[in-house]
Amino acid sequence: MYRKRQARLSVPCHNFAACAARMAPMSDDKPRALCCVPCEISRQQFLRAALAMAASPLLRFMPAQAAEGLEVSEVAPGVFVHQGRYELQSPENRGDMANASFVVGTESVAVIDALGSAVAGRELRAAIRAVTDKPIRYVINTHMHPDHVFGNAAFKEDNPTFVGHYKLARGLGSRAERYLAINKTMLGDAAFEGIEVILPTLAVENSTTLDLGGRSLVLETQRTAHTDNDLTITDTATDTLFLGDLLFSVHVPTLDGSIKGWLALLDDLAQKKAARVVPGHGPHAMELTQALAPEHRYLASIAADVRQLIKDGKTLEDAIKTAGFSERDAWKLFDHYHVRNVTAAFAELEWE
Ligand SMILES: [Zn+2]
Repeated sequence: MYRKRQARLSVPCHNFAACAARMAPMSDDKPRALCCVPCEISRQQFLRAALAMAASPLLRFMPAQAAEGLEVSEVAPGVFVHQGRYELQSPENRGDMANASFVVGTESVAVIDALGSAVAGRELRAAIRAVTDKPIRYVINTHMHPDHVFGNAAFKEDNPTFVGHYKLARGLGSRAERYLAINKTMLGDAAFEGIEVILPTLAVENSTTLDLGGRSLVLETQRTAHTDNDLTITDTATDTLFLGDLLFSVHVPTLDGSIKGWLALLDDLAQKKAARVVPGHGPHAMELTQALAPEHRYLASIAADVRQLIKDGKTLEDAIKTAGFSERDAWKLFDHYHVRNVTAAFAELEWE
């Protein structure tokens, strides 16, 4: 199992053009060249991670029956998580790069994020059907990014309520054309087939509770952080907190909202109590207190470096060469996303 996962992690990130799917276009050619370095982890890093996983009780999952090759794990009773790959979208991965979950109640099922294509979404749906035949009543999107919403179309036949932050429709609506064009190029025709932009039919203003029968999901909008439309979900029956892309692990965080807001929100989230958290990118589930620290360190490092550079009268050009580079070895896809994170942070912090 681990060998297989290691092989997956060694796929070269040659699809650098996808960066614009989430963020502003890159300003020069340097990051494009850098991002062609294969994403590899050393055998030593791999073994260390495997040992850490074996040592943590939270991570001893029961793998559910695989459906069409899409692996899901039951991280708590009735809570299933599929772990996306640490890659950019490609014909080979079919947009399967973010975590997607589903929660099974006595009456119905809720999906939390639907992967990055209708093809991958259908595989997720098949994985759900391998576990339960209860109706899929809700498809919840944690935020607007394509790797979390482009699988929505696979669930249309279930006639679910599509649920998101009240700002999701505006954010996704205004970026839809760009997201579609880029993903068509990146995924190729076969994996792009069936993708539709499906906006929420239930917009969450502050918080909403969804009853699945025997368990409830509490949905809460959050301040601008990863994006301006991040939604968190708590399964009350198991005390599982789904953080979407407010939590990245292993995969470098991507900033499309506010670095100040994100850092402040991480402080708030650290005060919460949860039996486990599910990241938007990272392992199936993690322990809350340990999960937040690396991401906080990464964002704080960028913020501190950028503030110092601004104080020293340096420019954005200086910042993208140095700010936060102490974090380079700690994250996968760093060379692909980091310069854009610094660019976004610089634009925000130079006016404070
Ligand atoms: Zn995202």
